[in-house]
Amino acid sequence: MSGRPLHLVILGRQGSGKGTQCVNLVGHSGTLHVSTGDMLRAAVADGTELGKKAEAIMNAGGLVSDETMNGVVAERLAKHDIKEHGVLLDGFPRTVVQAEALERIVGKRGIDAAINLDVPVSVVTERMLARGGSDDTAEAIARRLSLYDEQTAPLIDWFDDRGVLVTVDGLGTEEEVFARLRSVIDARA
Ligand code: AMP
Repeated sequence: MSGRPLHLVILGRQGSGKGTQCVNLVGHSGTLHVSTGDMLRAAVADGTELGKKAEAIMNAGGLVSDETMNGVVAERLAKHDIKEHGVLLDGFPRTVVQAEALERIVGKRGIDAAINLDVPVSVVTERMLARGGSDDTAEAIARRLSLYDEQTAPLIDWFDDRGVLVTVDGLGTEEEVFARLRSVIDARA
C-alpha cells in the first residue's frame, strides 16, 4: 500500500462479530491488530506490573484508568511496526479522555476511520444466550450491553464530530459483513 498506512478504530458490541472481522480487516488492510483487552490479558498472564494493576479491575468488569491505558497505547503506537503498517485499534479508546489522547498521539487527522460495527442489542442478546456461558443470564447480558452503550455513546459522537465515524451494518453472513468492511477500507487506502 502506498502513502501513509491506515489508522483504524473499531467499535462493536459484544457478540457483534468484531473479533472475527478484526482478523478479516487486518488481512485486507495490512494493518496490525492492537487489542487493549488482549494486551491486558497477556499482562495478567505474565504477571507484569500492568497485569497486577489491571487484573482486579478486569474481573470486576471495570475500566483500567485512562492514564494507564493512554500510556500503554502511546508506547505501542510508537513502535516501528505500527509506523510502517498502520493499526486497527480494538478496545481503545473506551472513553473520550482516551480518544483525546489518541488524537494527540496520531495527530488531528490521524484517524482514517472509526468503524462502528452495528448489530442491534436484540440480535447480540440472542447470540450470547445461544452461546450460554455460565454468567450469561439474560440479566447479566443486558447489564453488560447497556454499560457498553453508555460508555460508547459519547465516543460515537466524538468520532462523528470529527467526520470519521463509519457505521457498518453487522447483520448478515461473515462474508456479507466483510464485503461492507472491505469497501470502507478500499475507499480510504
Ligand atoms: P475487551 O477484550 O476489549 O473487552 O477488554 C477486556 C477488559 O480489559 C475490559 O473489560 C476492561 O476491564 C479492560 N480494558 C480493555 N481496554 C480498555 C481500555 N481502553 N480502557 C480501560 N479498560 C480497558
